[in-house]
Amino acid sequence: MFYLLIFLLQMKLIKLKTDLIKAIEYDKKLGFVPTMGSLHDGHKALIKKSKKNCKKTLVSIFVNPTQFNNKKDYKIYPKNLKKDLNYLKKLNVDYVYLPTIKQIYWKKNDEIKLNKSQNILCAKFRKGHFEGVLDVLNRFVELISPQKIFMGEKDFQQFFLVKNYIENKYDTKVYVCKTIRDKNKLALSSRNSLLNKKSFIETGIITKKLLKLKNKINKNRKKYKKLIFDLKKELSKNFDIKIEYLECRNTQNLSTSILKKPFKLFVAYYINNVRLIDNF
Ligand code: AMP
Repeated sequence: MFYLLIFLLQMKLIKLKTDLIKAIEYDKKLGFVPTMGSLHDGHKALIKKSKKNCKKTLVSIFVNPTQFNNKKDYKIYPKNLKKDLNYLKKLNVDYVYLPTIKQIYWKKNDEIKLNKSQNILCAKFRKGHFEGVLDVLNRFVELISPQKIFMGEKDFQQFFLVKNYIENKYDTKVYVCKTIRDKNKLALSSRNSLLNKKSFIETGIITKKLLKLKNKINKNRKKYKKLIFDLKKELSKNFDIKIEYLECRNTQNLSTSILKKPFKLFVAYYINNVRLIDNF
């Protein structure tokens, strides 16, 4: 009996599409957490939310090549499969899907294109990135038909585009989970492991300054352009960073009209050759 229970509780590791289809055949209320691995507490929060809200939870680990607009970036993306699987086991995840590139990209799909108004923030600086994200998620949803998908607020623009795209096309609902940060307020990210000690400390300081900026803008929205300009200048003077964007955007439609609407401060910058993004 004891062994039967252990067997039933075991996390199922799936590599083949055919095995996946068979394994989840009767799971109609599946929660899905797509990841690129190198898991941390940010991913854990999504998994916990899925476990709380869904009968069963499926986590995918797939470093999706089509969302990288830079070959080197793809090559050096951190990978920790053994550690990840132990981590997921401890979280009692039901299914882990580890597809190969061939399994996912078995057919071409050139249909996904962002429109001009979507070409902002990361979409402007990482050409083809979100087309790759939407393409892979579309393939996953076709295969898995999850009831719910859980994504992180840290990648808010990604969540925003995926929610629109997937909910328009499928019955699947896409939910957001708040950003998990370390003790220095830096948002957890698999890419943080690529930072050296000095830049790791600096990112904590920069994040606190960005949080302060958000508070200042909140108190005086009309001055947001000047406040952003001043902090950009200060950061560029004191840190060896390259800021791609630092912008306020309306959270309902990502437009720039923020004076009377809920908004977020979005940032992307390079430090120590690592690209970090965040929002507040
Ligand atoms: P990734 O493995 O980086 O592709 O991320 C997989 C999912 O985890 C995405 O939905 C991310 O937004 C989410 N995620 C990554 N970092 C965090 C974090 N610090 N807090 C919450 N969610 C996160």
